[in-house]
Amino acid sequence: MSRRAVAVRVEGIVQGVGFRPFVYGLATRLGLAGLVGNDERGVFIEVEGGSALVEEFLAALTGDPPPLAVIERISTGPAPVTGRRTFEIAPSVAGGDRHALVPPDVATCDACLRDLTDPADRRWGYAFTNCTGCGPRFTIVRDVPYDRANTTMAAFPMCADCAREYHDPADRRFHAQPVCCPACGPRLRLAGSAGSEGAGDPLERAVQALREGGVLAVKGLGGYHLAALAADEPAVAALRSRKHREDKPFAVMAGDPAAARRLCVVDPAEERLLTGPARPVVLLRRLPDAPVAPSVAPGNRWLGVLLPYTPLHHLLLRALGEPIVLTSGNVSDEPIAYRDDEALERLGGIADAFLAHDRPIHIRTDDSVVRIFRGRDLPIRRSRGYVPHPLPLARAAPRPVLACGAELKHTFCLVEEDRAFVSHHIGDLENYETLRSFTEGVEHFRRLFDITPEVVAHDLHPEYLSTKWALDMPDREDVDLIGVQHHHAHIASCLADNGAAGPVAGVAFDGLGYGSDGTLWGGEFLIADLAGFERAGHLTPVPMPGGATAIRQPWRMAAAYLDLAYDGDVPEDLDVVRRNAGQWAAVVALARRGGNAPLTSSMGRLFDAVAAVAGVRDAITYEGQAAVEFEQLADPAVDGAYPCGVLPAGTRFAVPGVELVRAVADDLRAGVPCDVVAARFHNAVARVVADGCALIREARGLSTVALSGGVFQNLLLLGRAVTLLEERGFTVLTHHRVPPNDGGVSLGQAAVAAALDRGDP
Ligand SMILES: [Zn+2]
Ligand SMILES: [Zn+2]
Repeated sequence: MSRRAVAVRVEGIVQGVGFRPFVYGLATRLGLAGLVGNDERGVFIEVEGGSALVEEFLAALTGDPPPLAVIERISTGPAPVTGRRTFEIAPSVAGGDRHALVPPDVATCDACLRDLTDPADRRWGYAFTNCTGCGPRFTIVRDVPYDRANTTMAAFPMCADCAREYHDPADRRFHAQPVCCPACGPRLRLAGSAGSEGAGDPLERAVQALREGGVLAVKGLGGYHLAALAADEPAVAALRSRKHREDKPFAVMAGDPAAARRLCVVDPAEERLLTGPARPVVLLRRLPDAPVAPSVAPGNRWLGVLLPYTPLHHLLLRALGEPIVLTSGNVSDEPIAYRDDEALERLGGIADAFLAHDRPIHIRTDDSVVRIFRGRDLPIRRSRGYVPHPLPLARAAPRPVLACGAELKHTFCLVEEDRAFVSHHIGDLENYETLRSFTEGVEHFRRLFDITPEVVAHDLHPEYLSTKWALDMPDREDVDLIGVQHHHAHIASCLADNGAAGPVAGVAFDGLGYGSDGTLWGGEFLIADLAGFERAGHLTPVPMPGGATAIRQPWRMAAAYLDLAYDGDVPEDLDVVRRNAGQWAAVVALARRGGNAPLTSSMGRLFDAVAAVAGVRDAITYEGQAAVEFEQLADPAVDGAYPCGVLPAGTRFAVPGVELVRAVADDLRAGVPCDVVAARFHNAVARVVADGCALIREARGLSTVALSGGVFQNLLLLGRAVTLLEERGFTVLTHHRVPPNDGGVSLGQAAVAAALDRGDP
């Protein structure tokens, strides 16, 4: 039999996922000699033996890789035949390129769960059990290559038993960087709110604290959470008031899928997402009799549910036997706490006890939030479990790009060639703390992926901290800056998400974004491709009385809209007028006068206005609250819609939102129930989407539509709009990998910058 040697290089997510043991096992099974190792670009292999066996090896390499591996590229070339007889694992090679990819954190696998619950196993009940198939990754990596010495596990020398597993190519823990056991690994501790540790088993005492109605801080993978028994109303209410979180729903962790089904309807796609390795919070339809306290998610038909993703969660949920609220460890809108001393200081006034441990978290990473739309993922927040897995771009960027993102739900994005690394969720970029998370995050990503941006993309809004940072960045003179209009970035994000390039009819509906003309946009119909856009139509601008105050007080938008809708003669029997009678006249005067009442074409503000008119709420405590609650109110069985003409306005068309507000107010005055009114409004906006796209198709022949912007997190609107568009023969692109909200804007900015840098026409 002829002997042959081949050199193989494998790129992608191939480190920290059990790839070398897989290669070792495969080669030794086939009786092949050679070696396998990690370097900064991925995995390198030399394999030598009979020709047919080498062929078999190469086929199996791509045919049946380890479950968490993502092979992006394999290249093979001839190697000298040396006559060696053994197959070895080569030591990691440092230096050079750093293209090897750091994997996302992975939920505890079934095999580790068995170890955890087997009294005969040496990891029985051990809260840090992991293997090559699961465990912490991105959150503990300090540097590349991905080796234990470059993680926060460096401080825990392996015991002899763990070292044997680590070095045994046949073992499930072979080269699992965070491998550890009770003898050598991190330890749990339970501290009081003052930081003092008491006696007794930390887990038992944590369970006790929860059972007694306490609030428990729990150190997770990417930060601290705050927990309380989900069915315990006084405990959940205490958590809410101490955290200064008035209405925004809390997520609930259920012990297993069966426990999740006792809370919510779970369809097969939702179950796949719930139990998958990323373990996001999944928004599910809540059962009417779900055993959760009223304060968990007040007035919400949906409930965010997640399953345990660390051994500690499994142990805690098993010991409790009932679901817990599990929410970010922070006060109000601050970033989630992740360092131990900082957590004690910031959460000391909220938590009665701290269930913590001594494995540091290197990078703050929030839970991801995803919902299912028509059987596919619709991300609301893409963070833990997904980041830093790169998103592929259909066409490569000629030079490396950094996209600085927007402001709310901030992310940034680094691109090299055809890979886009969208960052973890940074938070609302409105203060020093989040700005620092952003700048440190950029440094960390640059180092991990060895990308030095030469092109920097930013929003046009001069007041966004991300824009200011870009315009004044440290190596400003070494980069080319590209300003990208906010809604163009939304549509480009949707295109990149779908591997498309356009041109499309892009519908970007959101709260606010800075327009190319310096006014505030947000209800936009764009003819767009990656390189550019034209504003084809928009909502008719209305004043926002008091500027940002009108965002926090939707009734102000109602006042502005109603004043226009009734031509200055608003019926005084409308509840919204009565409720706000004290300030009504002054706010209307402000809207008419201008000054501190900037004009906006925002769809988010139209939803606010209508929600206030319908009595949903006059003031909000979190972004988008009025619209979220208005969606909940709508009766999905109602088909009717308010008429709303799409009018030519010069070279563009305009959508007169005032007609919708007038129709809503007239219906309410006639005694039509709110749930019917809410449904008719949603159906009307869906028709506006379809009518606007039809005008664009007539004018330009474009029959593909991209829907983006935070307003399309509204599933009722999204569902109705997609149905109408498809009935009219459109192909519709929606988001599946990055959120439609501003969390996806950085990917869009990067895609635009790359297209412009390529010189796309
Ligand atoms: Zn495992
Ligand atoms: Zn050990």
